[in-house]
Amino acid sequence: MPRFTQGCLLLLLLLVLNFSAMAQDLSTSSSPASDGGSAATAAPPPAPGSFDEVIDRVVERERMLLAQMRNLRPIVETYLQNLKPDIRGNPAPVNDQYFLGRLDMSDGEEDVSFVRESRRSRLSKMTGVYSLRFQPLGFAQMVFPDADFYKKNYHFNFVRREFLGEVRCFVIDVQPKSDAPAGKFQGRMWVEDQHYSIVRFNGTYSRAARNNFYLHFDSWRLNLKPGVWLPAYVYSEESDMETQSGRVHVKAQTRLWGYDLQALGKSRNDEFAQILVDSQAVKDQSVVAADPPPVIAERMWERQGEDNAIERLEKVGLLAPAGDVDKVLLTVVNNLILTNNLDLESEVHCRIMLTAPLESFTIGHTIVLSRGLLDVLPDESSLAMVLAHELSHIVLGHSFNDKLAFNDRMFFPDEQSFQRLDFKRKPGDEEAADEKALELLKNSPYKEKLASVGLFLRALQLRAADLPSLIRPHLGNSLAAGRSIRMSVLLTGAPQIDEHRIDQIAALPLGGRIKLDPWSDQVELAKAQPVTLALAREKMPFEITPFFPYLTRLPNESGDRVASGSSPSK
Ligand SMILES: [Zn+2]
Repeated sequence: MPRFTQGCLLLLLLLVLNFSAMAQDLSTSSSPASDGGSAATAAPPPAPGSFDEVIDRVVERERMLLAQMRNLRPIVETYLQNLKPDIRGNPAPVNDQYFLGRLDMSDGEEDVSFVRESRRSRLSKMTGVYSLRFQPLGFAQMVFPDADFYKKNYHFNFVRREFLGEVRCFVIDVQPKSDAPAGKFQGRMWVEDQHYSIVRFNGTYSRAARNNFYLHFDSWRLNLKPGVWLPAYVYSEESDMETQSGRVHVKAQTRLWGYDLQALGKSRNDEFAQILVDSQAVKDQSVVAADPPPVIAERMWERQGEDNAIERLEKVGLLAPAGDVDKVLLTVVNNLILTNNLDLESEVHCRIMLTAPLESFTIGHTIVLSRGLLDVLPDESSLAMVLAHELSHIVLGHSFNDKLAFNDRMFFPDEQSFQRLDFKRKPGDEEAADEKALELLKNSPYKEKLASVGLFLRALQLRAADLPSLIRPHLGNSLAAGRSIRMSVLLTGAPQIDEHRIDQIAALPLGGRIKLDPWSDQVELAKAQPVTLALAREKMPFEITPFFPYLTRLPNESGDRVASGSSPSK
């Protein structure tokens, strides 16, 4: 890997995977799964008789998964925070990095980045005293324990049986043999006991060279298709890595989603077939069967641009399909509309963008909030503040970039989405929307709780400088830029941040509220009960925490005889 040996870097985190080697291997391997996974859903062979046979199955399943992944192009997002001890010695983030791309293993290619940065700056070192380099693809590597998994390279030791969620697993410790090549997985893996798929593995890779390090990681897979477990979450952390320039502490969350994007296109084609059957459905929706007057035509034109942009964002995998969380947001929007007696010419919609950076924007009459923003907002009144700002753009009739109504403007490569779709507003419009939003909030049921909204903004202001990648929007306007902060007038009535007070929650950690289905991209509100904090340091505003998904099995759809408790008719 010659490109990593040059330069003046003090330390290099070697996270890169030789994907081309993997691709070569896959092309020669027998590929029972290359037909899209039907082999994986067939009834499994009889249960293995020995631990050695279990390992044979695990290796076989792992190679099958690698072959399946060649046909899938999930979105991979990594958000990383670099931490240093604060004045009380608790680790607090001091800077961050963000990667978003699509994992393409079809021909050994690297990932395709959505975030506009040159290759050089993507690899650029982190600011501060550390000279660290992270390879986005390195985080994608952590979705496999070994891209070239051979039994002969490892010692396997059975530990026990254990449940992860409702899934019974074999727990197995894995150590590379002394003569195995570098970069082999060492740690523990959990293997479900029906098809022998690895569902979780936790550890690191054996070190490749003196100045190269691998992060420790905890990698999770979810049962997204009957019999198929696909990578979904990776938590990585390195808490006390000694380097020449001091101790390094980093935490990162990697998420994968958008596995079923091709199917989205396919289902649209199915819709076409249905339209042919039911010809009523294609009739124009308008009540009056006549050409619209110019004003209506103008509105229809804007609506067309709005629909194009939303459809495109959904197809790329950046926007969740319409669903129940949208309705929760709409309830808050309707609270604002009703208490302010607003009379809007058309209905307001809400949608969820699937990415972590905190942002909100409006496309025509559709308000979009990011998953990360929904995660960190502490309460309904803070949510109302964000929605009130966006609703104000609609109420004030701020113009929408309706060049998007020309369909050819939607023809561009997915990875250019952030450049080609831009919903930023002018500073003047932002100020006007802030002013209007304050008026809307003061007439609403949220008027009593504006101090807690101010508290959230204060927390945001406090962390904004340290977390530029989390604060930087990709499609809309920033919530905080430098000293200026959205709805800053609310800061005046807000209490001071008291980090010792357990009951003062200004902002939540990332990942706590929104649950994303990596197959369908559908989102739902997490069902977890609110937790009483034991320590002030558990507040972790805007911070990264480990993943602990409750694993479940999909009901088997292929008459799988081994599955217990699943309906045979389904
Ligand atoms: Zn705005």
